[in-house]
Amino acid sequence: MDKCIFCKIIRGEIPASIVYKNEEIIAFRDIHPVAPTHLLILPAKHIASVNDVLPEDELLMGRLFTLAKKLAGQEGILESGYRLIVNTGTHAGQVVFHLHMHLMGGRRMRHPIG
Ligand code: 5GP
Ligand code: ZN
Repeated sequence: MDKCIFCKIIRGEIPASIVYKNEEIIAFRDIHPVAPTHLLILPAKHIASVNDVLPEDELLMGRLFTLAKKLAGQEGILESGYRLIVNTGTHAGQVVFHLHMHLMGGRRMRHPIG
């Protein structure tokens, strides 16, 4: 995906504060953090949104959660708690159409539902 900003980060074409990278997943700090810890965790494979997830991606999607837990531990917020968000589409405010999981923590957050 030539123009995708997150694919560019994955290819090393634009800088990011990368906290984890392997062949299938990357995690880096959000450029506009809304909490002391604000990471983005995403598949290296360009999947535009949850709407584009295929059954063959299920293991990869699960690994986003496993890495989220690991990184929450590294950030020291495993016990205090954290929020994982995957915005999907216009009404959810998705801005970058390369599926990504926000990992946010380090402060008490208002409950987003209700
Ligand atoms: P969305 O609303 O699509 O779920 O969130 C996209 C997130 O990506 C936003 O929180 C935004 O701050 C972050 N972001 C956008 N462009 C860049 C970038 O070039 N580098 C980094 N590290 N984060 C970005
Ligand atoms: Zn992409």
